[in-house]
This record gives sequence, C-alpha cells and structure tokens, in this order.
Amino acid sequence: MPKPSAVTLDQRSRLTRKLLPDSQQLQVCCEHMGVSVSVLASGSRGNCAVIQTSTTRVLVDAGISCRETFKRMRALGEDPRGLSAIVITHEHSDHVYGLATLSRKLKVPIYMTGATHQAWARSTRDESGVRPSLDRLEIFSPGRSFQIGDLAVTPFTIPHDAVDPVGFTFRAEGVKVGFATDLGYVPASVRDHLRRCEVLVMESNHDVEMLRVGPYPWSVKQRVMSRVGHLSNDALAEFFSSDYDGEAAYVVLAHLSEQNNHPEIARGAAEKALGPRRTLLRNRVLLASQTEPLEPIRL
Ligand SMILES: [Zn+2]
Ligand SMILES: [Zn+2]
Repeated sequence: MPKPSAVTLDQRSRLTRKLLPDSQQLQVCCEHMGVSVSVLASGSRGNCAVIQTSTTRVLVDAGISCRETFKRMRALGEDPRGLSAIVITHEHSDHVYGLATLSRKLKVPIYMTGATHQAWARSTRDESGVRPSLDRLEIFSPGRSFQIGDLAVTPFTIPHDAVDPVGFTFRAEGVKVGFATDLGYVPASVRDHLRRCEVLVMESNHDVEMLRVGPYPWSVKQRVMSRVGHLSNDALAEFFSSDYDGEAAYVVLAHLSEQNNHPEIARGAAEKALGPRRTLLRNRVLLASQTEPLEPIRL
C-alpha cells in the first residue's frame, strides 16, 4: 500500500498532466517527484529498472528490447528520452539485450566495468554482423563511487559467474536504494553495502525443492545453486532473518525464476523471515515481474 504522501503526489502529477502542455509536464512533475524506483522487467528473460531523482533519470540494466523498454516506461508516464544514463551490472544477455540499440537511440553515457565492456563487445553483433560500439562509454571500478547528476552511484562486487558482476547502491536526496540480483550468496561485503537502504531490490530466484525436481538439466541446476549462481528464496530469507538491518520501507523480490519458483512461495518465505518487522511503513514486500512493470515506488 503506498504511503499517503505518495498518493497525494500521484494525484498532483495526474492533475498536472491534465492542466499543462506536454513541454512543461516533465519539469513540473520532476520538481515534485523526489526519488522513485520503477522495475520495468525482472527475470531470466530480461532485467531493467529506472531510478530517478528530481533532475536525473538512470536505467539500471538494459535486458529487454529498446522498444519494450520505451513502451514500459511510457506506460508508467515516464519519458524515455529523458534518461540521463544507463548503468550495467554484468554482461549476461538478460541484462544487456537492448543495450546497443538503446545507446544508439538515446546517445546517453553507458557505465560499466572495463571487463564487462570487453565481454559485451566480444559477444555482441548488430544485424549486419558488425560489433556495435558505444559512443559514450564510461568505465567504473567496483567499490568506487561515481556521480550521475545528483545521483551518487556505488557499484560493488557480487558473486556470480560473469566476468566482473556488480550490484549498485544509489543515493540522492537523503535516500539510499540498493540493487542486488544475480548472486550465488550474500557475502559480508554485500551485506555492508545494503545497510540503511530505503528500497532494497533483492534476488529471490528459486525454490530449492522446485529447482531440484524441475526440468533443468543437472549441469544447469548445479550452476544455479552454486556460490556464483542465483540466490534462492531460502538464502534470501536467511539474509533477512540474520543480517538485514530491517530499515527498508520497501523490499522488492526480483529475478524470480518462472520455472523454479512461484511468486507466492517467494513472498511467503520473505514475509516469514521479516516477521514482525513488516509494518505499514517498513518492509513492505513487492514482487517484480517479468511481464509487466511494477508500479513506481515513490520516496
Ligand atoms: Zn547473470
Ligand atoms: Zn540475470
């Protein structure tokens, strides 16, 4: 359930949209917006989210097509042409599928690590078989914060079978938001980065039993369950009950497997682990979806 203030802001922005010509809408809308987080898509068929402040709008991963990214942003009333930058967690196709086209169309800076860029460039070809280049590539190093507009971005290393995978925290306007998906387990360094987040987007990939008896070949099951695979509902529950500081207003369960999980099983495991720390204002559990964008979380 949204905070009362969020409802008021929504109503005000709807009212604004009715009253003002297009050119003035974004500006007025943003002035009142604060920080918001929209998960456009989440899962092994593509990941993409938007974090925005009153002046900066950043895409986190580009794992769905450019067309679908634009469509989902517009469905939420957000203008894709207003994006300031794209940040990339790692080179797996469910995180970079739309990157070349988005870069060409938007001409915004693309941030990733040097190793991730090399891996992406090695494996990507356009329709004519040519390696696409990124006009405005910005290289970052895990552990070193950088600034995009008024958004402070901190990439941190996560255990996953990619060349240089990272999670992110974002800070602006006194709010911290954490993203950690595609990780085999939650090491102490990741736990430290995720403290004092107002929104936590965390992987709840699979139910261990469903994965074990499910249709994947054994080699794939082993990969998913490994220390550099994906986080299970149980592993996330373990994080919630033992290491998590309980500070977040919203916890978003993300990157759910369509084969080896069920949204209500994931939700049940998270809610049980969060226990009495779930209140009207803290630890509200939301589920990110592969097929439709999650209603923006406004802070
Ligand atoms: Zn991955
Ligand atoms: Zn992934």
